[in-house]
Amino acid sequence: MKKNDMIQLEIIDIGMNGEGIGKVCGFTMFIKDALKGDIVQAKVMKMKKNYGYARMMSVVRESPFRVQPKCLMAKQCGGCQIQALSYEAQLAYKENKVRNHLQRIGKFEEVQIKPVIGMEAPYYYRNKAQFPIGKDKVGKIIAGFYATRSHSIISLERCYLGVGVNEVILKRVLGFMEEYHIEPYNEVTGMGLVRHVLIRFGFTTKEIMVCVVINGDKLPENEKFVDSLRDIDGMMSISLSVNKENTNVIMGNRIVVLWGKGYFTDYIGDIKCQISPLSFYQVNPVQTKVLYDKALEAAGLTGKETVWDLYCGIGTISLFLAQKAKMVYGVEIVPEAIEDAKRNAEINGISNAEFFVGKAEEVLPQKYKEDGVYADVIVVDPPRKGCDEALLETMVQMSPKRIVYVSCDSATLARDLRYLCEKGYELGGVQPVDLFPHTTHVETCVLLSHKKTG
Ligand code: SAH
Repeated sequence: MKKNDMIQLEIIDIGMNGEGIGKVCGFTMFIKDALKGDIVQAKVMKMKKNYGYARMMSVVRESPFRVQPKCLMAKQCGGCQIQALSYEAQLAYKENKVRNHLQRIGKFEEVQIKPVIGMEAPYYYRNKAQFPIGKDKVGKIIAGFYATRSHSIISLERCYLGVGVNEVILKRVLGFMEEYHIEPYNEVTGMGLVRHVLIRFGFTTKEIMVCVVINGDKLPENEKFVDSLRDIDGMMSISLSVNKENTNVIMGNRIVVLWGKGYFTDYIGDIKCQISPLSFYQVNPVQTKVLYDKALEAAGLTGKETVWDLYCGIGTISLFLAQKAKMVYGVEIVPEAIEDAKRNAEINGISNAEFFVGKAEEVLPQKYKEDGVYADVIVVDPPRKGCDEALLETMVQMSPKRIVYVSCDSATLARDLRYLCEKGYELGGVQPVDLFPHTTHVETCVLLSHKKTG
């Protein structure tokens, strides 16, 4: 088989990135947008030794799991990968993804995985949107999302995962830019000013925070900009983030507050949180509550425990746990998030939580060596790359009774669980929760108990 050959095949599996997988003449073929159960016609794009990639040209027989995506741009847009798959099939795919990783990478053969907890209404769930700003072919300023594996912007002001007010805000931002001739940033030339618009929305409070990322120190006519947005119901904070680097990282580290407070407020359960532009905050508040409840349940707190919450962000999990623990210590690398965490403890009247800025893999080993700190329970919630080995090593030395691992990447989760299970821990419940419907991502909360004390 070679490039440009036409093939017809049945899709028998879904890959880790949502692509369809089928076999032709002994070759495994990966085909974007083809769904398990489809029979498709496809054009070979690239062949390797025993596998290849093809582009779907037509669906000869539709999969029983195929549905009409709500979004007309679902195929082109890089935001959703599996919107054409029925929600039930999405959940089954995610459960399977976690199982595959735990078996293949973690070498856990007989692993029990609880069914993924999905959403009742899996649309309009995101409280955060980051729209890149650019120009279309005729020079019109547009906002939207990046196309799959690319940085070309698909003009799209309505996203079915986000909240309705995003559309209103984007229209006004683009209108302002047109009126005052403010150029969008161009990644290729490094010229132009406006890079991204970040919008965050508090589902409980209906508060809105807008932050415009610029390739410069100021936004011309910034009072006019504020005037164009401040009357929107719920608007709480309008700010700039300065990012003059040639980078894929969206936010720049310097925040200039133009109007309002430098944060917005929201609730997870009873915990009130103030969140500033640079702080991480889970994007799906409904499912975050479900996930944190699972983490709390796994932590098995009675009120007497000392808990370390590593990668704590603005302290949401820490404060959730503090209600049931003797003392909680949080560690987080972003200083602004720790400022939010301290303020959040205060506004919730929680005095049994303390926070430290730094890398978890440095702070915990240091505190353990120098001060001999102790933990009954350790919670980790790392970014996709998982935990650093130096951290895992210290955790094992501290030998808490229970470790609760909250993960957004089941591959690194499996790797880290293998490490911990070789050093004295055993797997308890594995509970995936769907925080990201229509994408291939899934969160998982895992309980590990110490074989002797847990
Ligand atoms: N538990 C929080 C945040 C989880 S996201 C919540 O549920 O909201 C992961 C967090 O880890 C982010 O806030 C990120 O800034 C932080 N982080 C990334 N690398 C880190 C490291 N090496 N040490 C400590 N925190 C880190």
